[in-house]
Amino acid sequence: MIDFHTHTPAWRTATWLGGASFGADEFVDFMDGAGIERAVVLSHDGLFNSTPEANEELAAFVAAYPDRLIGFGSYNPRRPEAVQQTRRSFADLGLRGLKLHPWLQGFSMHELALDPLMEIVAEHHGVLLCHDGTPPYSTAGQIAALARRHPDVPVVLGHAGLHDLWREALAFTQDTDNLYICICGTPPYAARRIAAEAPAGKVLFGTDAGLSDKASQDYAVARIREIDGWGITDDQRQAMLIDNPRRLLERMS
Ligand SMILES: [Zn+2]
Repeated sequence: MIDFHTHTPAWRTATWLGGASFGADEFVDFMDGAGIERAVVLSHDGLFNSTPEANEELAAFVAAYPDRLIGFGSYNPRRPEAVQQTRRSFADLGLRGLKLHPWLQGFSMHELALDPLMEIVAEHHGVLLCHDGTPPYSTAGQIAALARRHPDVPVVLGHAGLHDLWREALAFTQDTDNLYICICGTPPYAARRIAAEAPAGKVLFGTDAGLSDKASQDYAVARIREIDGWGITDDQRQAMLIDNPRRLLERMS
């Protein structure tokens, strides 16, 4: 399977997620044990504190396993150097998508500063993955509005609305051509409905693995096992875990 939402550990930022310090070798060992062939890897530290170093550290992490790990850079769009650093993350660091976190980074998806960043993503045939599901920022409707202004960029709802906004995430995914929905941290009752009702070509799956210590990796494995209880068809499972993410990754290569 392809895991479309994982993280590097919290190397620098001491948050509630703890300060795990494993490297790419340990992470790929975990992937092997969990049956994950390839993973989209997002920074942790760069979401709390956007720095060029956070993108560099992510780039070094994924460069150790270029066939297995695909890095998405991140930069706070309000910072004056955001355009330059986003361009650098694609052109110089080899990162293949952009991750934005409106809640932790403190901005609204409606800010026009996002447009030049989206143009850079489009130029590089990249993908935007956006944290979602935590109002007031990070709602599916706000993210869909940006997606509609940039129809040439696939935009992924990174958490499928979580607990409170999954119905909205599902509805906007059904109505917005370039909006994709990644079931990650979404409760099982919502995941089941999304997997059954969202357009089959737009459902992705992620574990949020990597963030913390072993407990977080165990949680990730448990989420993969949960899929068996969703009652989806083999075709839906194949689309979500292999075909859909592969299509997006091929676009980026
Ligand atoms: Zn995450």
